Amino acid sequence: MRYSLFTLARQALSGHKGWRPAWRDAEPAEAYDIVIVGGGGHGLATAHYLSRNHGITRVAVVEKGWIGGGNAGRNTTIIRSNYGLPGNEAFYEWSMKLWEGLEQELNYNTMVSQRGIVNLYHSDAQRDAYARRGNAMILHGADAEMLDRDAVRRMAPFLDFDNARFPIMGGLLQSRAGTARHDAVVWGYARAASAHGVDIIQNCEVIGFLRDNSGAITGVETTRGPIRAGKVGLAVAGHSSRVAALADIRLPIESHALQAFVSEGLKPTIPGVITFGAGHFYVSQSDKGGLVFGGDIDGYNSYAQRGNLPVVEDVCEGGMALMPMIGRARILRSWGGIVDMTMDGSPIIDRAPVEGLYLNAGWCYGGFKATPASGWCFAHLLATGKPHETAAAFRLDRFASGYLIDEKGAGAQPNLH
Ligand SMILES: Cc1cc2nc3c(=O)[nH]c(=O)nc-3n(C[C@H](O)[C@H](O)[C@H](O)COP(=O)(O)OP(=O)(O)OC[C@H]3O[C@@H](n4cnc5c(N)ncnc54)[C@H](O)[C@@H]3O)c2cc1C
Repeated sequence: MRYSLFTLARQALSGHKGWRPAWRDAEPAEAYDIVIVGGGGHGLATAHYLSRNHGITRVAVVEKGWIGGGNAGRNTTIIRSNYGLPGNEAFYEWSMKLWEGLEQELNYNTMVSQRGIVNLYHSDAQRDAYARRGNAMILHGADAEMLDRDAVRRMAPFLDFDNARFPIMGGLLQSRAGTARHDAVVWGYARAASAHGVDIIQNCEVIGFLRDNSGAITGVETTRGPIRAGKVGLAVAGHSSRVAALADIRLPIESHALQAFVSEGLKPTIPGVITFGAGHFYVSQSDKGGLVFGGDIDGYNSYAQRGNLPVVEDVCEGGMALMPMIGRARILRSWGGIVDMTMDGSPIIDRAPVEGLYLNAGWCYGGFKATPASGWCFAHLLATGKPHETAAAFRLDRFASGYLIDEKGAGAQPNLH
């Protein structure tokens, strides 16, 4: 069913009784060409682009819970391509371009809103680093603009400019960045993939791998029985190391909880996304009016999808330091997701060291914005066996060779990215 104003009017006139489920909740078949483990944004986008770009439709996405129940439905919805390093910048800019056409492509309202992101700077050194980053972005075809203090003040007069512990000197603006409705992205990709014949199998946890005599992966063992596959792609985000361990692979990934918060609804206040440059705090305002904010990962490893109080305190301190008026707003909800932190803060899209298995992992706390390009490039790898040119740097062996893509150069500790 194609969604349009006409369809909406027709359904309204018939009492909205004719809507059909947006995707099929399929039963597992015996075998597929490709099985993708993980029904988050990345897994479903991969399935969509496998069918759309490569004509491969004997594909299943197996999800242990419900689609979008992981990080895809838990993130703070920021999309941007303001990266500074080769390897990252071209990839994220490609993702940004896919976001810009996503609603038309999927015929689904993913609420992509290019309301801009400004990264604030608080010192001369930080200004210079942002100028370098902005120049790198422009060289890769992204948009970037340095703002002085007055320009930031015009945009966000509620920030603490005068009495702050870390005075605001200006910011790096990317106007094309913004937000998208996270779960609608999942549903849009699921609908498109399902329409092409992809099986979306929920409540189906992968608990092991089928292997042949040579050790190659030939399918997955699930809570709903074995499923054979020509190739298996992992897109399980915070569970990457656990699922890879089932294939005897130890990934250079640590899992941490990352929390997010939303306040009660306020009148429109915050024009876009604002990030604090002197602490880990960022904020935007949802279309419903809630301030959506977050900060650092929890300091220790965990697979619990909830957070701990030290980070709550830290995020609130960051918020108060940047915009003291946030202290008047009440927090409505907070939640956590499990993020797959690599040691350089950049992802892995590569073949696994075991035949038949492919990895899409290590998205840290920034993989939502990557969803379209990640799906596009992972589908390319699965279909052709070769890395897509924009994702060629995301190799697994860079952690052995030392050829890292360390966006901040801040060291080998996940909580410093
Ligand atoms: C609080 C928070 C805020 C964030 N904010 C942003 C942001 O503003 N911008 C941004 O770009 N990124 C953000 N991120 C990161 C982003 O959400 C993730 O990097 C991205 O969603 C990960 O990819 P995914 O959507 O495929 O993951 P997920 O949605 O987590 O999908 C993985 C799926 O795999 C399933 N799975 C796991 N194990 C198995 C198994 N054994 N068998 C079957 N299925 C399994 C899980 O149930 C899950 O549904 C944030 C993350 C969090 C937690």
